[in-house]
Order: sequence, then C-alpha cells, then structure tokens
Amino acid sequence: MTLAPDIQQVTAFGSQPRRDSLRQAVFLDRDGVLIRDKHYLSAVAGIELLPGVIEALRALAPHFRLIMVTNQSGVARGLFSAARLAQIHDALLAQFAQQDVHLDALYCCPHHRDGTLASYTAACAWRKPQPGMLLHAIEKWALDPARCFMLGDQDSDMLAGQGAGMPSFMIGPEQAASKHAHARYADLGQAARAMLAHAG
Ligand SMILES: [Zn+2]
Repeated sequence: MTLAPDIQQVTAFGSQPRRDSLRQAVFLDRDGVLIRDKHYLSAVAGIELLPGVIEALRALAPHFRLIMVTNQSGVARGLFSAARLAQIHDALLAQFAQQDVHLDALYCCPHHRDGTLASYTAACAWRKPQPGMLLHAIEKWALDPARCFMLGDQDSDMLAGQGAGMPSFMIGPEQAASKHAHARYADLGQAARAMLAHAG
C-alpha cells in the first residue's frame, strides 16, 4: 500500500541558487542522531540536541543537502497528535536556525500498520526500513544516491539507505554495530569528518 504524501511534512529550505546544483545529500535520522532519543518524544521541552550536531551540520551544509527522515509512529499509536509533531519539528528547526543551520527538507512518516488511530493505520512505503522517503527526495532533487549517505542508529535506517542505493552509517557506541551498516561512528561529528573526506 502506498499513501499519498499529504500527511508527511516536507519543508524545503534549499532555495539558494548555489544549492540547486548539489547532487549529494546526507539523510539524517532524528532520534539518536540529531537529538537524544526520548522514546516517543511528545513535548517541545524534551528536544535535546546531541553534542557536536550543530558543528557537524554547519560543516556538511556547503557540500551536501541535509534531509531529515524520521519514523514517527507515535501519531498512529495515539501517543501524540500530528499537530504536536509539527510543533516539535518547528521548534527543532527554529533551534537550528538560531545557530545558522538550515535543513533542506524534513520527511516524517506518522503511520504504523498496528496503529490505534484508523486514519494513520497503514503499511506505509515511507516508513523505514522501506526507502520511500529517501526515494522521494532523490527524485525531487535529482540526487545521485551513490554520493549520498544515510545516517541512523537502527537497522531500519541502514536498510532504508541500502534500499535507496546509498552507503549507510550507524551512529552509536561500538555495541550498536549493525551487520547492515557500511561503517559505524560514535557520533555525527565523526561521521561528518568521514563523509567530507569523500565529498567531491
Ligand atoms: Zn507514512
């Protein structure tokens, strides 16, 4: 089943002419990569940027489009509303903007096949490990997947990256290694240094 992307939030910031020629992107999971994983974060006050994230995004931005891709089945599970999720994302983007960091786009999938709210209960092609969010962005910006990267802290992130044809890096401690990952880095800062070394 494929759902029309009317519920998912897509916010484009990449209007600067020089970004139009960027064919490479870093796809960033939200919880555990950009902000601390609070398990179904449901309040703006709970947003906690991880150390080094701002510096890493600033370093990556001239070379890569920055695209957040996040599963948020808490909506389908009735744990928080889609409006609350949008508030949280607006607040996160505002925290970034205050520090002169801008994402090119934000994708989220609020669905789950075992949801409790009928309107969000579905096996959505955008929910990782499916690559739907990544494929949508690749087409929208004519990205070259071989020059993109997927960063996450779950097997589902690594599988979504693989499904879209891009190298996928696990972010987390050594014991978080995934057999589906091309590499593992302790944090976004370390991963950023590795990706910049490969950026053409
Ligand atoms: Zn979805």
